[in-house]
Amino acid sequence: MSCTAHTRVLENTMLTITRAIRILIDESTERDGDLELRDGVVSTGRTHTEPGEILDASGCVVTPGLVNAHHHLLQSAFRTLPGTRGVAMRDWLPTMAAAYARAGVDAGLAYAAASVGVAEGLLCGVTTVADHHLTWPSADHSGTNQNSGSQNSGSQKITSQTNASDSVAIATATADAARALGGRLVFVRGSARDDAQEAAASAEAIVRALLPRTGDGMLQLAVGPAGVHSDSRETFELLAEVAEKYGLQRRTQANEQVDVAIALEKYGRRPLDLLEDWGWLQPGVTLAHLCDVTGDEIRRLAASGITATHAPGCDLPMGWGIAPVAALRAAGITVGLGTSGGGSNDAGHLLADARLAMQVAPLVGPPISARGVLGMAMAGSSAGLGRTELGNLRAGSAADLCVWDVSGIADAGVADPVAGLLWANPGRRPRHVVVAGQVVVRDYTLVNDDEHDLVARLKARVPLAE
Ligand SMILES: [Zn+2]
Repeated sequence: MSCTAHTRVLENTMLTITRAIRILIDESTERDGDLELRDGVVSTGRTHTEPGEILDASGCVVTPGLVNAHHHLLQSAFRTLPGTRGVAMRDWLPTMAAAYARAGVDAGLAYAAASVGVAEGLLCGVTTVADHHLTWPSADHSGTNQNSGSQNSGSQKITSQTNASDSVAIATATADAARALGGRLVFVRGSARDDAQEAAASAEAIVRALLPRTGDGMLQLAVGPAGVHSDSRETFELLAEVAEKYGLQRRTQANEQVDVAIALEKYGRRPLDLLEDWGWLQPGVTLAHLCDVTGDEIRRLAASGITATHAPGCDLPMGWGIAPVAALRAAGITVGLGTSGGGSNDAGHLLADARLAMQVAPLVGPPISARGVLGMAMAGSSAGLGRTELGNLRAGSAADLCVWDVSGIADAGVADPVAGLLWANPGRRPRHVVVAGQVVVRDYTLVNDDEHDLVARLKARVPLAE
């Protein structure tokens, strides 16, 4: 069974985007005019039959939907926590863990946090989000839910004997939250110091429960330990077995500063040496962060066939450095873009982080063009998910797109409206967002739920989110 070939089939749905001043088909192809979407995919050309619903894109640039390759949706409930900004990882971890324990991680919290995270993403143009879920209820602390953080240092020894049915409930709630809003979700069964056997059993239980729901392409499943700093060789190997058995993509985090420091301290080796030995430098694996990599490591990564995820909105504030993205790309590595979670990056606004990526690139190498960075947030991210139908608007691809109004004052005088998406108007949001041919954001407003109700539901579940 494979989770990588998805086509959304919607009978008899037509949506026509008209009069766009520019349509970005992919990183290197653009045109003006109309775009016809039929049955959830981009039509092969104007059919001049019934136009269906018409979305007027006058004064707007149309792009493929953005793909957030790295998020921790649960952390959307724990943003700007006192004691988590400007601190070392060893202090960040227990503060986050204590907040999770106070709230109690269960399906209800997963649903409320994922609803907010997915909704925020959609309102910012993110049509697909990969949720690397690392925090699970622990059977040996029943009722207190002692949990591990997203980037465990060696300072905390937490055993997580995850109850498989609890973890299935959390995964299901997250999937339900995304589906209710109309966004695509990649649920990554993560691990952060979980017991290896428990993590693998939980991953398998999640796959068995949710794989039947992946056929329409709105849900994808993957696995991923948090990194060599937190998880053992056994966890990497057992989760790889689950991935192999069910045809899942694999994802992990590597070479943020703490990862390198702990690998050296614990094993006397660098993280990529360990990942190579443990069978995780292979096609189908995506590595997030990669801040601290040597030239030799970049060559080895390129030869291995992995893909990468750049997450500058997390890496910079955490003080982890700037990944050498231009060098990674020049070596032939496909690089996507992710925000990481609300514990380190308080916004799930991928376009804002694309702007940041573009702005900081010249500090560590040659500049990257706006189209290059947009390409990372589109096809770069989707390639790492094995989803070539996402992140572009070529005929037959998924009908996921954003309509960006560039007619306002912040875009006045912009000569290149595609480059202007990043250079001008920081914090911009799309006027309309379409996923699988369905309008999910219309005139800056969620179609399938009320934004303020989502906020209220999270506040009711996590009183500290005030
Ligand atoms: Zn992360």
